[in-house]
Amino acid sequence: MFDVVVVGAGPAGSMAAKTAAEKGLSVLLVEKRQEIGTPVRCAEGISKDSLSRFVEIDRKWIAAEVVGAKIYAPDMTEVVLAEEMAGNEVGFVLERKIFDRHLARLAAKAGAEVFVKTTALGFERTEGGLKVKLRRLGEDWEVETKILIGADGVESRIGREAGIIKTLKMSEIESCAQYLISGIDIDEKYTYFYLGNDLAPGGYAWIFPKGDKSANVGIGILPSLAKMPAKQYLDRFIEKVGVRGKIVEFVAGAVPVYGEISTAVTDNIMLCGDAAYHSDPITGGGIANALAAGYHAGVVAAEAVEAKDYSAGFLRRYDERWKSDFGLKLRRNKKLQEFFLKLDDATLNRLARSISGKKIEEMSVQAIIMELLKTNPSLIEVLKDFFS
Ligand SMILES: Cc1cc2nc3c(=O)[nH]c(=O)nc-3n(C[C@H](O)[C@H](O)[C@H](O)COP(=O)(O)OP(=O)(O)OC[C@H]3O[C@@H](n4cnc5c(N)ncnc54)[C@H](O)[C@@H]3O)c2cc1C
Repeated sequence: MFDVVVVGAGPAGSMAAKTAAEKGLSVLLVEKRQEIGTPVRCAEGISKDSLSRFVEIDRKWIAAEVVGAKIYAPDMTEVVLAEEMAGNEVGFVLERKIFDRHLARLAAKAGAEVFVKTTALGFERTEGGLKVKLRRLGEDWEVETKILIGADGVESRIGREAGIIKTLKMSEIESCAQYLISGIDIDEKYTYFYLGNDLAPGGYAWIFPKGDKSANVGIGILPSLAKMPAKQYLDRFIEKVGVRGKIVEFVAGAVPVYGEISTAVTDNIMLCGDAAYHSDPITGGGIANALAAGYHAGVVAAEAVEAKDYSAGFLRRYDERWKSDFGLKLRRNKKLQEFFLKLDDATLNRLARSISGKKIEEMSVQAIIMELLKTNPSLIEVLKDFFS
């Protein structure tokens, strides 16, 4: 019998388990993989502020530190953004194999039980709460809990069984492929983003340095717009930009680009991170929001235990907190994503050219927008919406 069972030891789950345990709850964190953090299905970029909000920075899990982002239009017009303007994924490139394990260790240190190689198969409602079915090292187990936190990633089993989320449509998910390439020759002070409807339909390609001449080189595409699998787009991108080096790892994965869901709770259950589609609809970045959502879920779990109220009505305060934290950004970036999807390559080139070469790091966001509007007055409608 636990106060809280958390399913999934990614950033969202470990942060939820750590927070709830620190508040004195009995917590079980289960992870289906044998080793937390591997395989890494992530380009590992995160802004410094988003990270330091929740964890003390430890150089052991920082692979690289960057000063900004270089964005390339389809015709390779370059726009350079300083780190502070480049969003939630630019600042540090993590070593998630170590980072995710570190977070799970913090949860354990705070008092949570951590079970690896343990898959949550589902749950049943009981009079006092929930019975969670687990398969641990080939054996079936059942644990009782008052609160279940689903942090089980994209296509969350807990979320679907609870009826909070549905299977995503092909237009609501980015399909991603990524190589870790060693011996790459790039300026390691930047992360690189490449746009283009032909290059990466509905998404973009990236190169994120990991130090020591290695980098995550990947691509995300919207399957609803793509003509072939993500890996083929990735190989074509590598050929096109002339990336050299040795491929030492390959991963494929998916990330929700849904926008804001109306609720991430039902009686006794909260969802956080990718399970609640908390990743950014423009960039697909989800670590920052996963950490934030995990934190809020852990705090609300403690309040629910204190109030002895696990109803959806009570847990809705978790919705209020994650929405006031980053809900507006999810909504705005969903609108912006829909707008970008309508732009053809010629327009993307024109937009990039209108600000390329300007000292963007010295400009305010408003000044950049004014520059864009000067050459692209049709942007006014969407930008008005975006900033209202
Ligand atoms: C190729 C790629 C590149 C990306 N790059 C970036 C980036 O640069 N920056 C960024 O911020 N975000 C990036 N993302 C997104 C980011 O990886 C996710 O948003 C983030 O990992 C979400 O964290 P989470 O804790 O919600 O879920 P996850 O990290 O997915 O963790 C979920 C965990 O739940 C476990 N699990 C699932 N089902 C069960 C079950 N039934 N029982 C037990 N355990 C279960 C899984 O094994 C997993 O460990 C990228 C994603 C992809 C696919």
